[in-house]
Formats: sequence, C-alpha cells, structure tokens
Amino acid sequence: MSTNGNGTAVCPGSYDPVTLGHLDIITRASEVFDNVIVGVVNQPVRKQKTLFSAEDRVKFIQAEIGDLQNVHVLAFATLLVDFAREHGANAIVKGLRAISDFEYEFEMNQLNRKMAPDIESIYMFASPQYSFLSSSGVKELAMFGGDLTGLVPDPVAARLEEALKR
Ligand code: ADP
Repeated sequence: MSTNGNGTAVCPGSYDPVTLGHLDIITRASEVFDNVIVGVVNQPVRKQKTLFSAEDRVKFIQAEIGDLQNVHVLAFATLLVDFAREHGANAIVKGLRAISDFEYEFEMNQLNRKMAPDIESIYMFASPQYSFLSSSGVKELAMFGGDLTGLVPDPVAARLEEALKR
C-alpha cells in the first residue's frame, strides 16, 4: 500500500493502444497518488471503432504495470465522473502534449467540474521524448511499416504489426 496521501486518481483514455507516453503519465501519477485507476473507455455506441477490443487494451496496460502495486486497470462505459466516483477517486489525471491538447482539455475540464466539483482535474505535461506521441500516430506508422521501437511496449508493437499488415 502506498502512502503518498493524495487519494485516488483516475487516468482515463482510449489507450488504443497504450504508448510509452501513456505509461509515463501512469507511472508519474502512481508516485503522487495512493492509488491510480487506469480507466479504459469502452463505449459500444462510439462511432469511431477502436482497433483493439477493450479487453485487449486493458491487458496491454496490465502487462506493463506489473511492479506498480497501486495501479489498477479497468474498462468503463459510463460518464467519466461517475466512474471516478464509483471508485472513490478525488482526481482525474491527464497528460498534456502540445497546445492542440489544451483546447479540448480546457473544455472537458469545465464540463467535468460542473458535473463533479468535488473531483479535481490535474494535468501533467508529457515528457519531452513523448510530446509528439499519440495512439493514432502509432497506428498510422504501423500501417506503413514504420519502426515502433521506443514508442509502444514490444508486445503491443508485435500485435500492431499483425493487426495492420495486409
Ligand atoms: P491518444 O490521444 O493518444 O489517442 P488517449 O485518448 O488514450 O490517447 O489519451 C489518454 C490520456 O493520455 C490523455 O490525457 C492524453 O492527453 C494522454 N496522453 C496521450 N499520449 C500521451 C503522451 N505521449 N504523453 C503524455 N500524455 C499522453
């Protein structure tokens, strides 16, 4: 059990698939909060289909956070603030890469605050080496046979190559 004294944080995302940038944020959050719940968005009604199933996306993350005792990974298909409340979380932690993330997050922050003023949204700046790393970029790279070393965990790279090879 961790004793950081800052309660429980949810790190939400699609994680389709998880990248080293996501894992960097999850690891850093685990050093600040007592518990971290990685919330993998699983919305069957979502228009844009994910490449990997929620089950696979959860498993990819679980395989990488082995030694972080205070991190748990769960899929969810409800409103983020409801998911956070359900697990007793007092914070939502998100990563900020470029300025382009800011506008969207600024809006989401206001909406979530309106619905749940008791849950604070906290933003962590991406580490410089991951500032331009996104799941969609990685998928595009994989589709054209690009090298995924240093961008995603090795088992994820293998699954991406398999999934996108035609
Ligand atoms: P993506 O935008 O790559 O599809 P998600 O929707 O799964 O990612 O994002 C989950 C969270 O992780 C968001 O808060 C997002 O800003 C953050 N994040 C994504 N990629 C990175 C990265 N390379 N470095 C830091 N944070 C990131």
